[in-house]
Parts: sequence; C-alpha cells; structure tokens
Amino acid sequence: MKCPYCGHQEDRVLDSRSTKEGESIKRRRECLECGARFNTFEEIEERRLQVIKKDESREPFDRGKILRGMITACEKRPVSVEDLEQAVDEIEKHFRNQPTREVRSSDIGEMVIERLRQLDQVAFVRFASVYWQFEDVQQFREIVDRMAARKRLRRQPSSAEG
Ligand SMILES: [Zn+2]
Repeated sequence: MKCPYCGHQEDRVLDSRSTKEGESIKRRRECLECGARFNTFEEIEERRLQVIKKDESREPFDRGKILRGMITACEKRPVSVEDLEQAVDEIEKHFRNQPTREVRSSDIGEMVIERLRQLDQVAFVRFASVYWQFEDVQQFREIVDRMAARKRLRRQPSSAEG
C-alpha cells in the first residue's frame, strides 16, 4: 500500500477491523519509511466506489488522492494529519452510505472544501481557488454564499430531495 505522505510501498498493519456494514476492512498502517500512520479501506469487489469525472469518465475511488490534496492545501498550516485523516474517513463513509456506487468528483470536491473550511481558513481558500479557479474575490464570495445557501436548504426536512 503506497504511503500517502512519502510514496513508499512498504508498511506494517497495526490494526484491522471490518466496518459496521461489513462491506470493507479498515486497516491502520504505519509506513516503514517515514513512520506516518494512515488508514486504508479494502472493499469487497462489488461494493467498489466509482468516481465520475467532469468528462464523464470513471475511475476507482481513491481516498489517498483526497488526502494528498488536503495535505497539500494544509502545508505549513496548523492542521494535524490526524484531523485530515478523520475528515477523509468521514467523507468516504458518507459516500459509502449512499445507495449508489457512483459518486461525482464535484461532490467529493465540495465535501473536501467544506471540511477544510471548518479546519483552516487559509487551507480552505487555497484548495477552493485551485478547485474552482475563480477569477476574483467577488466570484469566490458568490460561490461560498451559494454553497452555504444550498447547505441550509438541505437541512430543511420539508424541502424536496434534489
Ligand atoms: Zn511514508
């Protein structure tokens, strides 16, 4: 299993347990090169998540990729790797709990942005600026407002499902 921090291929397994749903095995691993600890989820084949990219092509869900993106955004920021790991755990769990096996890359991106917003403002802006490629502060503000509005909408139990 490739280390998300240094790319080394060898690690040792510290702990293994199957998830509550019994669909995957969660393993806590330690990189033999840099000593970093990280989680992996090994799925039962037919429950494998697919990511639908912008051009409609598919690729397997890769939590390491999400984590690496978040680590990059949090470079030199006071955010612990444990917090990022936990955020990725929650993001992955969210998508595993939905009935479909496919997830849009834009939905993943927005969840990452939302998480970073809670963790660190600088990391949030860094990630969002790369992700949305907004042109100015005004445009950025509009997107954030829209995102916040949509979230409020989702919380209302009476509103129709989108
Ligand atoms: Zn490593």
